[in-house]
Amino acid sequence: MKIINVVGARPNFMKIAPLMDAFREYEDLETVLVHTGQHYDEQMNDLFFNQLEIPRPQINLQIGSASHAVQTAEIMKAFEKVVLEEKPDAVLVVGDVNSTIACGLVTVKLGVKLIHVEAGLRSNDRSMPEEINRILTDSISDMLFCTEQQAVENLRREGVSPDRIFLTGNVMIDTLLRFKSKIQQSTILERIEVREGSYAVLTLHRPSNVDDPEQLERIICALETVQRELPVIFPIHPRTQKNLEVWDLNARINEAPNLHIIPPLGYLDFHKLLEGARLALTDSGGIQEEALILKIPCVTLRENTERPITIEMGGNCLAGSDPERIVAAARRVLNGNGRSILAPPLWDGMAARRIARLVYESLTQKIAPIGMTQN
Ligand code: UDP
Repeated sequence: MKIINVVGARPNFMKIAPLMDAFREYEDLETVLVHTGQHYDEQMNDLFFNQLEIPRPQINLQIGSASHAVQTAEIMKAFEKVVLEEKPDAVLVVGDVNSTIACGLVTVKLGVKLIHVEAGLRSNDRSMPEEINRILTDSISDMLFCTEQQAVENLRREGVSPDRIFLTGNVMIDTLLRFKSKIQQSTILERIEVREGSYAVLTLHRPSNVDDPEQLERIICALETVQRELPVIFPIHPRTQKNLEVWDLNARINEAPNLHIIPPLGYLDFHKLLEGARLALTDSGGIQEEALILKIPCVTLRENTERPITIEMGGNCLAGSDPERIVAAARRVLNGNGRSILAPPLWDGMAARRIARLVYESLTQKIAPIGMTQN
């Protein structure tokens, strides 16, 4: 039996790491790791493979950055050759990046079983490129693994047969729990000279926030106020950095003495920084979930989230990009609110093992693939 696992960009790496590990338990299951090369540099790629002990990909398609159409098309052209050559029994894709849908589409067109990990999440905002990738990938997948009950319900509502849907937990949290002690050893707080509990962490990279100068300016306006009350550490995404330069917004940031831009961090440093923060300000999908598990109050700089459990559990709130709302949300946290002590069911570090077992059983037909969520 052979399974191809696909990664392409930073948010994929922490999801694939525990799955590669879990598949290793099945000796008659050969795994091939394919990297599409959406992210390729040291900071956004190599660091993660080293720190998360992900095996080197056997195949790198080296597609790089391009428009959505070009990138998706190039990945499809290159990945079709891989599937024809490797003849896998299944292809596993994670998350919601362009590689997810590009490789998914190639897979089903060649009649190969498609597995989607982190299925069913919906922001219900179709202007988000990731939302389109999620909807399309789920609609063609054979096995859909969900992190939360709402995702299961979204898929059912969209007509996905219940025997394809599995509620198995969160593989990204598997990684977070596995690397807990290594994260503790990071020296990032000393290196950037901050004390635990005395700062906020900010990440920002969604196109809706950073590809529109007015929107970005509104967020900067909010940050100018927040940083007066709590220093803000900002590991900046390359896309955001580029846009700040293009629109000449760097001066505004430089004039805010407590808003500190630093390069994007490797996994271990980033998590040490997040764990020590008083508050997370983010438009990331994954960080909303990681902050919940770390019990760090999160203010999400978006109007919606595809991860509603983070809100239900009281650890996250939506503040959009309106400066007044962002500042008010940050102040609520500084006044002691927004810290959840709950953890969602099955976010226990075992999600990848559950998935690997179900995939193995389904591929080897050892037992019928009956959905764990079926009543
Ligand atoms: N992350 C990281 N270093 C950083 C910023 C983020 O290691 O400087 C991690 C973060 O902890 C999470 C993942 O990258 O595991 C999320 O990726 P991103 O925010 O780029 O994507 P999204 O989750 O929004 O798709």
